[in-house]
Amino acid sequence: MNSISGKSVIITGASSGIGEATAKMLAERGAKLMLAARREERLQDLVSKIEQAGGTATYQTVDVTNYQQMQALAQTTLDKYGKIDVLLNNAGLMPLSRLDKLRVEEWDKIVDVNIKGVLYGIAAVLPIMQSAKNGHIINISSVAGHVVFPGGAVYCGSKFAVRAISEGLRQEVGADIRCTIISPGAVATELTNSIQDTEASQNIEAIYQEAIDADAIARAIVYALEQPPEVDVNEILIRPTAQA
Ligand code: NDP
Repeated sequence: MNSISGKSVIITGASSGIGEATAKMLAERGAKLMLAARREERLQDLVSKIEQAGGTATYQTVDVTNYQQMQALAQTTLDKYGKIDVLLNNAGLMPLSRLDKLRVEEWDKIVDVNIKGVLYGIAAVLPIMQSAKNGHIINISSVAGHVVFPGGAVYCGSKFAVRAISEGLRQEVGADIRCTIISPGAVATELTNSIQDTEASQNIEAIYQEAIDADAIARAIVYALEQPPEVDVNEILIRPTAQA
C-alpha cells in the first residue's frame, strides 16, 4: 500500500497534457479520481482507460471560470468519495503575445482561467479541507512564474500570481493543509495550441523542440503527494535539461 492509494483527488484540466498524465499515474497508485475539464469526450475516454486498467475515476464537465461549477465539482466529489484529499489546480492556457498587440480578450481569458480558476478551485475545497483538518492543494505555476520574457507579460503575470496565491495559502492554512507549487518548463502538450499570435508562436518554437514529456511533471506531483503528512513540498521547479 502506498500513501496515494485511497486518496480522493480532483484534477482540473484532466482532458489532456499534464492533467491526463497525472490522472493515469495516480490511478495506477490507487487514487480515487474526479477528472474535470470542458471536453466531455476526452474525459469519458480517460475514465474508460483508467477503469479498464483497474483504477477508480469519474468525471464532471467544468469550466473553471465558473465558481458555481467549481463548488458543484467539490460537492460531487465529496458525495462520491466521502472526502477530498487533494486538489490539483492544473487547468490553464497560454495565448502569448506582446502587450502592444492589444489582444485584450486573450488577457481576459488568461486572468479568468489561470488566476480566477485557481482561486475558485481553492474556494471550492478549502472549507471542506479545513473542517476535515486534512488536505493538499497543488497549483501548477510555471518557469514563467519565475521569469518574464517578451510576449509573456500576461501569461507570466498569471503564473507569478499562482505562486503568490499558493504561498499565501500555505502561510495561512499550513498547519492542516499542504500546499505545493509545481513550476514546469517546456512540456509537450496541447498548451501551445492556445497561441494565436504568429510572432509569439514562432518565438517559442525552439524552446518547445526540447520539451519534455508530461509524465515528468506527473512524477513530480507523485513525489509531493507521497511525502508523509508533516512534510510539505513547497515547490518543484522542473524543466528540460536543454532549456536555458
Ligand atoms: P493542455 O493544453 O494540454 O491542457 C490544458 C488543460 O486545461 C486542458 O485539459 C483543458 O481542458 C483545460 N482547460 C483550459 N481552459 C479550461 C477551462 N476554462 N475550464 C476547465 N478546463 C480548462 O496543457 P498543459 O497540460 O501543458 O497545461 C496544464 C497546466 O500546466 C497549465 O496551467 C499550464 O499553464 C501549465 N504549464 C504548462 C507548461 C507546458 O509547457 N506545457 C509549462 C508550464 C506550465 P478543456 O479544453 O477540455 O477544458
